[in-house]
Amino acid sequence: MSKDYYTLLGVSKNAGKDEIKKAYKKLAMKYHPDRAPEDKKKEYEEKFKEINEAAAVLSDDKKRQQYDQFGSDSFQGGGGSSGFQGFDFSDVMSQFKSGGFGDFENIFDQLFGGREGRKNSSRKGNDLLYETEITLEDVAQGVEKNISLNKLEHCPQCHGKGALQFEQCHHCHGSGQIKRTQRTPFGIFQQTGPCPYCHGKGELAQDSCSDCGGEGVIRRKKNIDVSIPAGVEEGMRLRIMGEGEAGYNGGSSGNLYVLIHIADHPIFERENDNLHLTIPISFTQAVLGDEIEVPTIAGKAIVTIPPGTQSETVFRMREKGLPSLNSKNHGDQMVKVHLEVPTKLTKKQKELLLQLKEEKPSRSFLQRVFG
Ligand SMILES: [Zn+2]
Ligand SMILES: [Zn+2]
Repeated sequence: MSKDYYTLLGVSKNAGKDEIKKAYKKLAMKYHPDRAPEDKKKEYEEKFKEINEAAAVLSDDKKRQQYDQFGSDSFQGGGGSSGFQGFDFSDVMSQFKSGGFGDFENIFDQLFGGREGRKNSSRKGNDLLYETEITLEDVAQGVEKNISLNKLEHCPQCHGKGALQFEQCHHCHGSGQIKRTQRTPFGIFQQTGPCPYCHGKGELAQDSCSDCGGEGVIRRKKNIDVSIPAGVEEGMRLRIMGEGEAGYNGGSSGNLYVLIHIADHPIFERENDNLHLTIPISFTQAVLGDEIEVPTIAGKAIVTIPPGTQSETVFRMREKGLPSLNSKNHGDQMVKVHLEVPTKLTKKQKELLLQLKEEKPSRSFLQRVFG
């Protein structure tokens, strides 16, 4: 009798892998034999087997295609006693029974983790994201940040192995490999794969590390120095390899990503590697010219205002901007001068300005226009 794996998992025929994975996880948790009420043990176990069978087929592209074409009968062996033959459920069940819920993730990985996951049930540690805010001065110089993380690390007591004492695995006699027979419509295949009892390690734990509860990983605080290069931009992410969470079962560690935010600056406005600022100048400075001191991101510098400078003129200070992240170049600093009209005058200033007003211009505006 053909089973409808899609209905079993409650997904549609064109469900994606993620959807199938989700549906499977939910159902497998629900019908896990450990959770069965006393009077429903058999029922739960059957259901659990069916769910696993469905997931094992639908999570594997080849098997799914075969199933879509021929139905679940195509997986049944001659007698069809235990139904699905392509995946050894006695392994799954015994792992559940020996390991209980802790092994659930491992089996899950075996089903969905792709080739790598099936090869050895180790799991890569999670990546971590850390957000940090730096100043524009930090961008100019580059900066070292000491950041504090609370993350999973290899347990120092058992060195990430989850146990202190090990014995040779009697299922695979220490080789870590086991032969399994796979029956398909195309013939019988013998395949050597990792031993499911020892996850291909060749040894079995005899105890459970008390520090980490056998997980091999432990959550601890860790401080890390992060070197943020000069020239970084808002929203950039630095990747620090291997500083994420520790992997399980000898899996590699995840990466740490540091997301950079740059605080607004009270004076400077950033435009790529260039910096902009506005400086007030007086009427006399504009008319007569002057040398004025302006702030730069790396200290102070002098800008020469030539006589007769108009308000809102922009002066370019070469290479006084920010360093470029990808080259040895520096951006520029753009100084806009803004003519400030005084609103309060001393008596003396007022007298001088009145004198200036009396002074006949060489040629007035009206004369220039009308001749
Ligand atoms: Zn073994
Ligand atoms: Zn430990």
